[in-house]
Amino acid sequence: MDKIIYMDNAATTRTLPAVVDEMLPYFSELYGNPSSVYGFADKSRNAVKTAREIIAKSLNTKPDTIYFTAGGSESDNWAVIETAHAYKKKGRHIITSQIEHHAILHSCEYLETCGYDVTYVNVDENGTIKLDELVKAIRPDTILISIMFANNEIGTIQPIYEIGQIARKYGIIFHTDAVQAYGQIPIDVEKYNIDMLSASGHKLNGPKGTGFLYIRDGINIKSFIHGGAQESGRRAGTENVPGIAGLGKAVEIAFQSMDDKMKHETNLRDYIIKYVTEHIPYCRLNGHLTNRLPNNTNFSFQFIDGETLRVMLDMSGICTSGGSACTSGSASPSHVLTAIGLPRDIAGGSIRLTISHETTMEEVQTVCAILSDTIDKLRSTSPLYEDFLNR
Ligand SMILES: *Cc1c(COP(=O)(O)O)cnc(C)c1O
Repeated sequence: MDKIIYMDNAATTRTLPAVVDEMLPYFSELYGNPSSVYGFADKSRNAVKTAREIIAKSLNTKPDTIYFTAGGSESDNWAVIETAHAYKKKGRHIITSQIEHHAILHSCEYLETCGYDVTYVNVDENGTIKLDELVKAIRPDTILISIMFANNEIGTIQPIYEIGQIARKYGIIFHTDAVQAYGQIPIDVEKYNIDMLSASGHKLNGPKGTGFLYIRDGINIKSFIHGGAQESGRRAGTENVPGIAGLGKAVEIAFQSMDDKMKHETNLRDYIIKYVTEHIPYCRLNGHLTNRLPNNTNFSFQFIDGETLRVMLDMSGICTSGGSACTSGSASPSHVLTAIGLPRDIAGGSIRLTISHETTMEEVQTVCAILSDTIDKLRSTSPLYEDFLNR
């Protein structure tokens, strides 16, 4: 395949070679089952233990609060559905937001069919949770607040500290889907009063199908996957040892180099934002200008069909997306762009460009130039745009 420029790091990231190296021995050499008692299995057990320690340290917590899962979706489903089951005597009301990932939204919709009540709090035009609405939504029977740390489509970072304070004050469990934020920006579960946190390996240069749920001591949720006694009896199934070892390595690398990565990505991100908003007319930046993930940009262009734009960019070797990878291919506009108030026709002309620490300034400049040209081309053949100019 010809050289591509990969601008879709919010959908998934490249598994780093150092991560693959860490995983390889656990396939064909050190393949023991961590639950086995002989010495050969010690190596597998230790790999899992080391990864758990690295992750715990990264969040300022203890290793026995980290439970490995098969990714962000499982962690989200587990947190929401099992909290609902475990605390139903206290109440059946859950608060979340309109811009959550579908792993949260669809879990909540499932709970609604089981007799739970869910409030989906609004966001402002930048995609920030309206805290006053969150507080107003709290009821005596509210058992869970689940708000994402940062949004996967528009990159807006939520006021997690404030939400943690609110949840603590009212004695409500606070879960955050940190799949996009974890490994990109510092997170301290103590400082932020986070009770549960979901993360995923493949969003931070680790392997796909890996992830974890952090569960604070004292949060008594049960297993989501039933079977053996792995993960202290809370998540059955033989551990994905190579995956867990790789996840641990990816986390170690992400946190070692976090400051440098943040600087590099923020610099490129702001270059893209400045270039696009200054050079391409009738465009808007979606998400907060500064309070956003270092790797995320998202724009809407008037008189442009986003799908056509993405196909044209793909022909130029540039990988982009319309928003969430999970919704691309569906015709309805993104629920996130709708929630920040974009009309359907504007939302339909949107594109998300997400970089990584491996993205170069040269790549970014190439993408900006091609994006600008492509939009010129598309508009020059657009009757809508012609009408608009002649008005
Ligand atoms: C990708 C993503 C998920 C799902 O994680 P998987 O590991 O792909 O299952 C959940 N939430 C957010 C915010 C995501 O970006």
